[in-house]
Amino acid sequence: MQVLSVTPEIFPLIKTGGLADVTGALPIALAGKGVAMRTLIPGYPQVMAAFKKKKAVYQYPLLQGGKASIHAVQIAGLDLFVLDAPHLFDRPGGPYGNATGADWPDNWRRFAALSQVGGDIAGGAISGYQPDIVHAHDWQSAMALAYMRYGKAVGVPSLITVHNLAFQGQFGAGIFGELGLPGVAMALDGVEYYGGVGYLKAGLQAAWAITTVSPTYAQEIRSPEFGMGLDGLINMRAIDLHGIVNGIDVDIWNPETDKHLVANYSAETLAARAKNRKAVEDRFNLESDDSPIVCVVSRLTWQKGMDILAAVVDGIVTAGARLAILGSGDAGLEGALLAAAARHRGRIGVVVGYDEALSHIMQGGCDAIVIPSRFEPCGLTQLYGLRYGCVPVVARTGGLADTIIDANEAAISAGVATGFQFAPNNGGALVHAVHRLVSAHANPAVWSSIQRQGMKADVSWDRSAEKYVELYRLLLSKRVA
Ligand code: ADP
Repeated sequence: MQVLSVTPEIFPLIKTGGLADVTGALPIALAGKGVAMRTLIPGYPQVMAAFKKKKAVYQYPLLQGGKASIHAVQIAGLDLFVLDAPHLFDRPGGPYGNATGADWPDNWRRFAALSQVGGDIAGGAISGYQPDIVHAHDWQSAMALAYMRYGKAVGVPSLITVHNLAFQGQFGAGIFGELGLPGVAMALDGVEYYGGVGYLKAGLQAAWAITTVSPTYAQEIRSPEFGMGLDGLINMRAIDLHGIVNGIDVDIWNPETDKHLVANYSAETLAARAKNRKAVEDRFNLESDDSPIVCVVSRLTWQKGMDILAAVVDGIVTAGARLAILGSGDAGLEGALLAAAARHRGRIGVVVGYDEALSHIMQGGCDAIVIPSRFEPCGLTQLYGLRYGCVPVVARTGGLADTIIDANEAAISAGVATGFQFAPNNGGALVHAVHRLVSAHANPAVWSSIQRQGMKADVSWDRSAEKYVELYRLLLSKRVA
């Protein structure tokens, strides 16, 4: 089976978030399952620098205002189609904006171009390559499904994965005339959205199936609270809506071999975590004692519930836990957390910044990781926590609800608990969860059973890839012969 993935990001070439991890890991996980996935990505400078240009497999004399070509290449074990369109993608800064973070004003044009090319490839533009299915990701490639629907590839099954419904690609109606779509597409059941053009909306409308990155998030986005204005449409498509949890790279995130750790360990040698714990105490200036260290590794944002946490740090310390916080983001939250650390010297430590190596040491040395997200399409840090015996304490939402088994009495005595869940997501419930954690931690047999159970959980891509294969098969069965 040939699947064309269309995406604005792919690890290890270009990454701003979890989307890149998924699009980078999936082709590799699918390869052993009879699915050949090729990925169409924009030719950003770092992508173009990663290969030597040979003859293009397709040329556009004019694509959204300039010449463009498609190059078939292999980079880092990934089969790629790179869209070389210098007028759109040869720019400094990130994939969506300049170095100061301001979005490029022509993002609508850049990602319409990417999507149009996806639609063209689906329609047979590249000789010798015909995908059986097209799999798009988020608003930046969602329009590929609209180009397919209103073009030659109308019979090719398509899937869109929503990694975060908060980002929708909403533009003014004025751009429609430049998209190269037929007039009928500017309709309620097409690309039109609140009088403008909605890229994600258009993809959700045109896709043969929709996935989110966890089953609970798939359900949540059907409600006004989580639907971000698209819940009506998503409910209409409910029968085609699926949730498939992300996996993690279990080679990079492996406590037995992780080079970032001071001491490696397994479920059988949990005592060795003490050395990593000491490293965390030193780095965060925490007093050394037997109380649990609860960590945070997160963007400091409203979505991640960091304001909820900041408001109850005193309660967390009173409950008997220490806090080690690594994060960056909202300046107000950074300030509030630094102030808390100053107030509770030795009990709360804060490092502002992004530090991959430190994040590994924290998972390998802290006792628990707290994730009070307001919404969480999937979440990765709780999966790393499971794998590292760093017990997740999570808000009961989205992928957090799907991946952690709450340590209630029944789950503890059945030996299946892997963490702590709390709901509703507010300060009181969060502090209550920390109290539960502190008392479980005081009982070494219970605590190590929760750690070991988490470490047994299958958080690899294998199972998730299997689910994507099942869905691809379902889509193929819907093709009109
Ligand atoms: P999101 O993609 O919404 O930020 P996820 O939990 O899906 O949340 O993924 C976040 C990723 O970024 C994880 O790999 C996490 O370890 C990493 N991360 C977040 N903040 C930091 C930080 N300050 N330093 C190091 N890694 C971080």
